[in-house]
Amino acid sequence: MNSNQESSEVICEVCKIQLDKIAQVKHLTNLELAVLTQPKRVLNINIPLIMDNGVVKIFPAFRVQYNDARGPTKGGIRFHDHINLAHVKELAFLMSLKCALVDIPLGGSKGGIKVNPRELTKGELQRLSRSYIREFVDFIGPDRDIPAPDLNTTPEIMGWMLDEYEKIMGKKAPGMITGKPLSIGGSKGRVYSTSLGGAFTIRNYFNSISKKEKGTTVAIQGFGNVGSHLAKILDEWGYTVVAISDSKGGVYKKSGLDIKKLLAEADSGKKVQETSVGEKISNGDLLELDVDVLVPAAVENVINSGNIEKIKTKLIVELANGPITTDADDFFEKKNVVILPDILANSGGVIVSYFEWVQNQSNYYWEEEEVNQKLEMYMKRAFDEVNKLKNEGEFSFRKASYVLAVKRILQAEEDRGIIVKKK
Ligand code: GLU
Repeated sequence: MNSNQESSEVICEVCKIQLDKIAQVKHLTNLELAVLTQPKRVLNINIPLIMDNGVVKIFPAFRVQYNDARGPTKGGIRFHDHINLAHVKELAFLMSLKCALVDIPLGGSKGGIKVNPRELTKGELQRLSRSYIREFVDFIGPDRDIPAPDLNTTPEIMGWMLDEYEKIMGKKAPGMITGKPLSIGGSKGRVYSTSLGGAFTIRNYFNSISKKEKGTTVAIQGFGNVGSHLAKILDEWGYTVVAISDSKGGVYKKSGLDIKKLLAEADSGKKVQETSVGEKISNGDLLELDVDVLVPAAVENVINSGNIEKIKTKLIVELANGPITTDADDFFEKKNVVILPDILANSGGVIVSYFEWVQNQSNYYWEEEEVNQKLEMYMKRAFDEVNKLKNEGEFSFRKASYVLAVKRILQAEEDRGIIVKKK
């Protein structure tokens, strides 16, 4: 162990706050805390990009490989205007917990570029994506660190990144990135896997409390890849989706929205409120609806001290990463509002990324049904383990999920001889 690990210097503040919560129910030694609050590798660079008009612009870019005790690190790359290093560290920490919680043999990482991709031309976007890989090429790869899509990044971008990596390495290596198009090693089912995993989580929870699914009312904030696929799946399963929104606002219908119609109209490029479905509501109003299930599936911190008092639902399912602030989370825990946390509820994406990587490594590809059956099995196993721990300890799903994930990471650190347990 190096001297750095012995110090209690905190490198990831938010991670420390989360770990303090775990410490309320599970004792962690200083060394364990030090291992968990410090990312293993932090990469932080500036990428110069020659824009189409010849002007050079600089874009800050990040990759944080948080913990690799359980395997190569895994996590998405996001393109967002508001990204910063501290935030990427926190997201990489959450990826480490997520992969451990669902028991896939991978560590956690996250990356991103501080950019609004909508302000770039397609050519600029492709050149920037390729530059990201060129800058980080020595640190990524199928057995080191495996990126994937995240906010504002797509299968198309993953394809460009794979191509850049393979050109530099001079060989094919489809397992270096996941969420790729099917033609170059993507997995069937990956596009909607986060949503299907979320739907399975809701089902698993309802089964555990013997509640029937049919007619259950749902409000979904977010109509990107995750929110739209979730609406489609839950509608097909007989849930009543009463509200949905995108960044411009939402629509609502008490008896249930016509989701097929909404999706068809949105396919032709319309914003949610431009469709002929439901009556208009704001994003804020959607969060305050009295529904059986509230699903924040867009961005972080949308449920916070400013609106907690007005939230009426008794079940929140986090399909976005970190949509509930820490103080709001404490408030809900006291009020017995059930929260199915992000590292459990939105883990379907990284689980199918793992399947994609396995398929790439073995060069043998599975049918969609097989992918979805395996996803169902992984989601159920993780839910059952968390639920058991939650019931034994009488604490929240979030605490139970964190405790289980941390336990698995620390076990791997111990088995590697990094942490030595006193006999
Ligand atoms: N970006 C997704 C997440 O936050 C997927 C990551 C992956 O597939 O590696 O879980």
